[in-house]
Amino acid sequence: MAYTGRFAPSPTGALHLGSLAAALASFLQARHHSGRWLLRIDDIDPQREQPGSASGIIQTLHEFGLQPDAPVIYQSQRKHLYQQAMEQLLSSGHAYPCGCSRAVLDEQGRYPGICRHGLPEGASARSIRVRCDGAEIDFDDAIAGPQQLQLDELSGDFVIRRADHCFAYQLCCAVDDAAPGITEVVRGSDLLACSGKQIHLRRLLQLSSPRYAHIPLITDRQGRKLSKSAADDPLQQGEPADAMRLALQHLRHAPPAQVTSVDGMLAWALQHWQPGRLSSAWS
Ligand code: GLU
Repeated sequence: MAYTGRFAPSPTGALHLGSLAAALASFLQARHHSGRWLLRIDDIDPQREQPGSASGIIQTLHEFGLQPDAPVIYQSQRKHLYQQAMEQLLSSGHAYPCGCSRAVLDEQGRYPGICRHGLPEGASARSIRVRCDGAEIDFDDAIAGPQQLQLDELSGDFVIRRADHCFAYQLCCAVDDAAPGITEVVRGSDLLACSGKQIHLRRLLQLSSPRYAHIPLITDRQGRKLSKSAADDPLQQGEPADAMRLALQHLRHAPPAQVTSVDGMLAWALQHWQPGRLSSAWS
């Protein structure tokens, strides 16, 4: 199957250095395999969305030379697919209505299974959860190496539709990363555990899973993940060429000093991309 990669930002703010690195890694990897690169806007959660963010992200990617090979995909236009997937999971008995609030989760955020054999008397359904039933998900990450995730230890049965009737990220992403024939998902390592949940959902939905490649996260001086609002983000505060250099350095591809323009650095990276260099960041 022809290589298809994707970048899937949530429109919750401006693109930051960490997401530029993820966008670049997925783009360079797609081009390295002579493949296509898609852009999906994960605008499924109106509460977290910031007006103008989606168009701002698309514009910023454009300025960095990252243009998708097909029209931009919007999750807000695909709700019927998430609905279908949820109904399939409910009718096959893999999902169930849950009446619990977040207050029942343990310190690690795991659900203790209160509603998995039916709603307790007097309770009414709030969210829909998928069963994990001791699922252990093994996969070989192209960058981070072999992974073994025990879903009961990670989260227990997890939410696929929230109490506000918004479909959860795990379900939408699981469906979308199968639907357009995506062959590899390159994204930040903060989503490594999500890959286990998304593979689990696709197994239950009888959909095939892409390969995964998780890049190390860019953190600030305190070791915290860069947030989209970080006032000291070089992408939001500095010169685009400096941000491009920093993002590529983070991806272990430092362009030579004489290459100074954004376009020049992208062209250099396209020529020199070696995904194996990122694996050392994990060892
Ligand atoms: N949209 C989510 C985010 O921006 C997930 C992206 C992904 O699955 O790559 O964090």
